[in-house]
Amino acid sequence: MKIGIYPGSFDPPTLGHLNIIERASTLFDKVIVATMVNGSKNSSFTMEEKADFLRRMTKHLPNVEVDTFGGLLADYVSEKGACAIVKGLRAVSDFEYEFQMALANKKLNGNAETVFLMTDQHYLYLSSTIVRDIARHGGDISGFVSEEIREDIVNKLYQPKE
Ligand code: ADP
Repeated sequence: MKIGIYPGSFDPPTLGHLNIIERASTLFDKVIVATMVNGSKNSSFTMEEKADFLRRMTKHLPNVEVDTFGGLLADYVSEKGACAIVKGLRAVSDFEYEFQMALANKKLNGNAETVFLMTDQHYLYLSSTIVRDIARHGGDISGFVSEEIREDIVNKLYQPKE
């Protein structure tokens, strides 16, 4: 069975992430979406919240599983018996960092190929940071995240002033 791992911080997951998951699910027998503990970023949502969001927004995809992990991605890939790491690329600015990570992961685990999927043009500009900023200021995020999770994101981030 060909298994692909799609790792990310997903803080929160967006329609850009969902687009990559849907496309990866047609390329692999199974896709594991893995929310990472990211030491350098302070998350707005807990790992459990993010995993729950991802489960709700991918329930129409039977070959997609959601998991959480700490530690090294290269080790996690072996542990799951996966053949590839899936990454989304939005812009040239994503490329340099992703290129470095792909080479480092390959060095740590010779079987860890990284597969890049180009963003769909509709989501070129979309990031979790943009979603958080809009939600915090009471803006409408309905075009940016799945309907299933929209309200929960707003409830957590939007604190209207009295
Ligand atoms: P962000 O950069 O939005 O904080 P993550 O760390 O959660 O996102 O990203 C996980 C993966 O999803 C990365 O490979 C990232 O390049 C990709 N990704 C994020 N947003 C998009 C998008 N709008 N289109 C395509 N890929 C994306």
